[in-house]
Amino acid sequence: MSGFALVSSVAHAWSTLVDLFSRHAVAPLLDALHLRGLSDDPHDIAASLLIAALQLAIIGLVFRPLESLWPAERWEDRRLARIDFHYTWVMLVGVFPLFSFLVLTPLANLAGGGADAGTAGHGLRDAWPWLDRHPAVLFVAYYVVYDFTYYWMHRVQHWMPWWWAMHSMHHSQRQLSCWANDRSHYLDGALQSFVLAGVGVAFGIRADEFAWMMLLGELVQNFSHANVRIGFGPVLGRVLVDPTFHRLHHMVVDPQRPNLHNCNFGQVLAVWDVLFGTALYGEPVRPTGVADPMVDRDNELGLVAMQWETLKRFWGAVRCRAGWTPGDVAFDAHYRPVPVQHEAHAPVPAHGAQGVPALEGERVRC
Ligand SMILES: [Zn+2]
Ligand SMILES: [Zn+2]
Repeated sequence: MSGFALVSSVAHAWSTLVDLFSRHAVAPLLDALHLRGLSDDPHDIAASLLIAALQLAIIGLVFRPLESLWPAERWEDRRLARIDFHYTWVMLVGVFPLFSFLVLTPLANLAGGGADAGTAGHGLRDAWPWLDRHPAVLFVAYYVVYDFTYYWMHRVQHWMPWWWAMHSMHHSQRQLSCWANDRSHYLDGALQSFVLAGVGVAFGIRADEFAWMMLLGELVQNFSHANVRIGFGPVLGRVLVDPTFHRLHHMVVDPQRPNLHNCNFGQVLAVWDVLFGTALYGEPVRPTGVADPMVDRDNELGLVAMQWETLKRFWGAVRCRAGWTPGDVAFDAHYRPVPVQHEAHAPVPAHGAQGVPALEGERVRC
């Protein structure tokens, strides 16, 4: 069977499966719950639930066994990682289908009346009509735009204290595993989607293409967070993000080399880090998490409390001048950001956090 025939038979099997699931499960359920009016098309809901099931199956049946076979870090138990498992379920079965309904459908309408509609007038298709006849090349071109946007947005998430207040929740995990990708604050997720979807509209990316790009990004990120000792080697590892690469992005601040952790921001393509001087290779496996004790407390919280505490950090930062002053910060007991003065060979502060100033008695002007 040729490659093209294989792709078209897989696509046919997928659409048959979505159709069956839509007609025999989703539509009757919507009818039973009297929710049919909420969505014109149970087909969309069926597709997003099946994508979620596919993603959960890949993480649980492929990535998770790899963690047992070749662990980067050996853990006695997975106590801290357990909450990320719940985050992944909430994201895939709840938030993502809702996101499809609230963002992707309006995006499709904005782009010209539906997922299959063209985007005449703007975007890469308009600039290079040749691309429209070569969908694989077009998809790669769009993906490069999407990933480039993600890279710079991610740098701002670390650079701007009010955004770090939220993104730090993703980084507080000390047991980084294949479930950790969806551990993030929902306001942070909404903001990220807004930025990425906005750039998508500007470049003429269609809603269905956007959904597949998000799925590809999600799967690669599920793998790159896995606790596995797998790297793609000196050549491919400069192009694509692998678990060794992303694990270094999650390292705890090293007080001896306090800027080392500002590295490896790429989502799927490592090439942006190589081009813009933020790539780090060749380090041994390092502990993950954050040095800031206020953020590290996330590890003791449940899902709702973690969202709430993170929201308090965001609120504490966004109202402060220090929250809008780029640079590394820690958070004081009142959830306000305090700039971190990195000094090489600095002594470890009294309360035990590396690279974080003693906050007691300091005043932050808001
Ligand atoms: Zn990050
Ligand atoms: Zn991460």
